[in-house]
Amino acid sequence: MQKRSVDAVVIGAGSAGLNAAAELEKAGADWLLVEAAQYGTTCARVGCMPSKLLVAAADAADAVERAKLFGIRARDIEVDGEAVFDRVRRERDRFVAGAISDTERLPAARRMLGRARFVGPTTVRVDETLELDAKAVVIATGSSPVVPPVFDAVRDRVLTSDGVFELTRVPESLAVIGTGIVGLELGQALGRLGAEVTFLDRLTNVGPLTDPELQRYIRTVLGRTLNLELGVTVESAEAAGRGIRLGWKSPEGEVRSGEFEQVLVAAGRRPNVAGLGLEKTGLELDERGMPMRWDPQTTQCGDAPIFLAGDVNNHAPLLHEAIDEGRIAGENAARYPDIARHVRRTPLMIVFSEPQMAIAGQSYASLDHDRTEVAEASFEKQGRARVMGRNVGLVRLYATRDDCILRGAELFGPDAEHLAHLLSWAVQQRMTVQRLLRMPYYHPVLEEGLRTGLRRLARQLRVERGRPCEDLAVSPGM
Ligand SMILES: Cc1cc2nc3c(=O)[nH]c(=O)nc-3n(C[C@H](O)[C@H](O)[C@H](O)COP(=O)(O)OP(=O)(O)OC[C@H]3O[C@@H](n4cnc5c(N)ncnc54)[C@H](O)[C@@H]3O)c2cc1C
Repeated sequence: MQKRSVDAVVIGAGSAGLNAAAELEKAGADWLLVEAAQYGTTCARVGCMPSKLLVAAADAADAVERAKLFGIRARDIEVDGEAVFDRVRRERDRFVAGAISDTERLPAARRMLGRARFVGPTTVRVDETLELDAKAVVIATGSSPVVPPVFDAVRDRVLTSDGVFELTRVPESLAVIGTGIVGLELGQALGRLGAEVTFLDRLTNVGPLTDPELQRYIRTVLGRTLNLELGVTVESAEAAGRGIRLGWKSPEGEVRSGEFEQVLVAAGRRPNVAGLGLEKTGLELDERGMPMRWDPQTTQCGDAPIFLAGDVNNHAPLLHEAIDEGRIAGENAARYPDIARHVRRTPLMIVFSEPQMAIAGQSYASLDHDRTEVAEASFEKQGRARVMGRNVGLVRLYATRDDCILRGAELFGPDAEHLAHLLSWAVQQRMTVQRLLRMPYYHPVLEEGLRTGLRRLARQLRVERGRPCEDLAVSPGM
């Protein structure tokens, strides 16, 4: 076996790993990037990009359908599923090619294909060919879809997000297991493209929003068009002809079943740590085999020269967070033991459902409720939303009483992706409700809906006039 000493090994050439490598290069370190499967990243291959391509196709079908509302009738509307998936794959392949060429631009001596595992605290073996003695290791191995044991008998037939983009037509019937982000985005898109979709989830939440008022509203609104089986337990899954028969129990104990052409399992993702040999690192591990001590501001595990970046740490499994964590991990791997702390960005999460959902800043679940004022605004009568015929939605805004600073918001409604950006930027700037109300608002725009909610917050905070809390917001030490 060949042996080599390096400053740092980066395990995984996804978005986090590539960014870690870029920082190591910038720092002038001697590093090596190891990838087990293929270059191209999860985001481009089976994640953000192909899922948004499918959602874009569904949006186009919706737009034609909704045109009736405006007196515009398109005749002979047909969803050509083959063409839909052809475009998804064609465009997806362009994004993958971009990611591959970014990776292949790295010097050949700095990257290799092979499965890495620890054989000592900072000794990493790649397959059985190379042993690397490293001063620091960045683990950026990502995550994989979980397929629960109840699907064992049909494991090779069910779809996950890894395989769904290889479909060549829209299935006639589809069961989606899981109403989280992935299940909702993909299941709803396929439904809007013509599949008859049944969503099953053991919880009663639809999407990741944590505000109970929003969850109630979402269930009511989406329940009008989606077949939602919530709070259920899937008890059986077996092959039936060319499809799959599922059996499940309702919350009332009623046993139900259904036959589906396809089943998409979107029951969560698991960090890729199996077989990584983390037990050889000396790190304290929990019952799932994950390091017990991990710091999001440094990405370091305890005091060890081991850094965990991207989906593998399960902290905020989103692309922009994976990039940030890769950068932080790469920088710290190069500087170890002189570790730098980084202030993380304000949280921002968007679901490309229809209507969209988003969390900007603090979620409802993370608020200190004794200190927080909550106000809401509906999009049902909002001017611009009605003009566009997209007048469904609700935003809930959270501000702290003692300083009137906007802390967060949860949204469900038209163009939530854009409104959530404005709100998270305001949260990160520590803007008060009063300051936000002094910003310009054009007419008629969806942002006026936010203003309605902010005005309510100002009334509740009793800061409609004057600026009693404004000074507090900018005082030192806040
Ligand atoms: C369907 C779907 C839609 C999504 N949509 C969005 C979205 O709209 N917006 C958003 O922000 N995020 C989205 N995400 C999440 C986003 O894709 C991830 O947060 C991001 O891709 C994670 O990057 P990563 O570098 O951590 O992991 P990856 O890109 O998965 O990289 C990990 C790499 O490590 C390799 N590896 C694993 N084990 C080993 C080993 N032992 N040795 C060597 N290499 C190894 C893997 O082969 C892989 O290439 C979506 C995800 C999915 C699944």
